[in-house]
Amino acid sequence: MLRTLYRILPPAAAGQLAALTAWLAAAAVLHGIALGLVGIVVTASLDSGSSATPWLVALGTVALGFVIVQWVAQMTAFRVGSGTARALHLRLGDHLAQLPLSWFNPTRQAGIIDTATTGVPQLMSFPAILLRPALTALVTPAAAALTLALLDWRFTLAVLAATALAWYVSRYASRLAGVIDARRHRTSGEATNRVLEYASRQPLIRTDQRPDDASALHSALEGVRRASLRSAGTVIPGLLLFGLTLNILFAGLIAFGIARVTGESLTVPGFVGVIVVVARLTAIAAAGAELAAGLRLQHGILTRLAGILDTPPLPRISEVPAGPSVESPGGGAVLVHADRVSFGYDHTPVLAEVSFTLPRRGLTALVGPSGSGKTTLVRLLARFWDPTSGRILLDGVDLRTLDPDQLAGGIATVLQDDYLLDSTIGENIRLGRPEASEAELAAAAGAAGLDTTIAGLPDGLDSPTGPGGAQLSGGQRQRVCIARALLKAAPLTLLDEATSALDPENTRLISAAARRLATTGSVLVIAHNLDTITHADQILVLDQGRIVQRGTHAALTAQPGRYQDLVRDHAGSSP
Ligand code: ADP
Ligand code: MG
Repeated sequence: MLRTLYRILPPAAAGQLAALTAWLAAAAVLHGIALGLVGIVVTASLDSGSSATPWLVALGTVALGFVIVQWVAQMTAFRVGSGTARALHLRLGDHLAQLPLSWFNPTRQAGIIDTATTGVPQLMSFPAILLRPALTALVTPAAAALTLALLDWRFTLAVLAATALAWYVSRYASRLAGVIDARRHRTSGEATNRVLEYASRQPLIRTDQRPDDASALHSALEGVRRASLRSAGTVIPGLLLFGLTLNILFAGLIAFGIARVTGESLTVPGFVGVIVVVARLTAIAAAGAELAAGLRLQHGILTRLAGILDTPPLPRISEVPAGPSVESPGGGAVLVHADRVSFGYDHTPVLAEVSFTLPRRGLTALVGPSGSGKTTLVRLLARFWDPTSGRILLDGVDLRTLDPDQLAGGIATVLQDDYLLDSTIGENIRLGRPEASEAELAAAAGAAGLDTTIAGLPDGLDSPTGPGGAQLSGGQRQRVCIARALLKAAPLTLLDEATSALDPENTRLISAAARRLATTGSVLVIAHNLDTITHADQILVLDQGRIVQRGTHAALTAQPGRYQDLVRDHAGSSP
């Protein structure tokens, strides 16, 4: 457990933890020596033939040392505890920011919430509280046993053997329970998903009048209940087993002592001294075992945290892999070059050898039937994922070599599932260009069709958006994103137009924004609307993950093919 923690902690925090471990180990050693000396003092004072005074002096010195070291360790412990939790939070945050977006499925999101809000704060108690008794249970008996060698070395061996056996049994019990704990955690993660699903499906459940839809939720909660019972059921036998082992070992050591006294190889005072120590050690071990459950819980948290931190981020490659040179027609006029890009989700191919260029200025429409891979292609351009083969160059540079800030600075997106920060409408728009003036911000909001919305709100642009933009309608959220993209006026803007029938007003706004941004930069729009498409300088027709046609509206309507079909379908469905 310490090893995992050291591995995932940043160097500074790991150093603090190492210092704390050293202090605590020193305290545990002194504790053990003091205990051993107590045994020797007891023996010497019972034994008329020897003086206890020098041993008492030694005991006093060691005890004083123990108190001082223990005090320092305890003062450090709480500081290291909070430092560890802070370092882990930061590490988790930094790492999450680098993970491919494909990683964030609902189960993993639930796991992140659980780990960040409950798990990491709980880990604070590991250095702060639990590490001390754990080290004491492990180190103190050994130190005490070695001190006892001054009295009787055979007892040293016996106590060491008993400690090793007790440690082995406690590990066995805790590993057993760890397996069950992991299963309990999986079950409760599943239940969280069912609860979320049940909550988000309420409208569907109510309108469909399907009360039995709660059955999945019920069975998941029942699973949690059973798993919790089972986990309690394995902890208890484990604790009983350990308690029983300790008592047997204690009895065994007493029997061993009696046999040696009877055989006259050990004096009665020596026996009494040894038994005093052994009794104390048994109590320490029992206290350590009670902490085992807490430690196991922390071990589970740590394993899950390490699992997240071990997920590799999207790679940054230092050099663009060899490929044909990027001298496209137009040379410096090319902003984006997609070069034989292929991609699939979980090995299901979605895009196959897609190649195209986007000019530095102008409007490109991406059209194609539903499921042909349009959204996927746009996500690759924003580097939500990396292509499985091929490459995408922005301004001649492979996306994989750009640092995230450069990439974010070069691209603006308006996607259908965009998310707003829990802030104000104005702040969300301002994200596009933080240094923009109030007038520019208001102009962008107006151009995105937010005028009436803002006028209808008491606080105007300063009205809150709520978490994820929950206080706005879906259409309003998208307009905020359009305003943000307009304000940013990035070299490349990626837009995903609503399917025309759903939201004609927003479709019109996106179309207008696209045309406006295309005068200063490059715009790629997933277009469903003929009006947007006919205005495009270039149309890419995607079908089953391949570009099957490309050209202008005039050229494409003149030739038979997929485009003619799409336009014919549109003519039938659009107003
Ligand atoms: P379009 O935008 O043209 O409708 P998409 O790019 O959304 O197409 O989807 C292309 C294919 O990839 C579809 O078969 C879709 O089911 C699949 N797909 C899309 N997103 C995911 C995802 N996150 N995981 C797995 N498959 C996906
Ligand atoms: Mg789509």
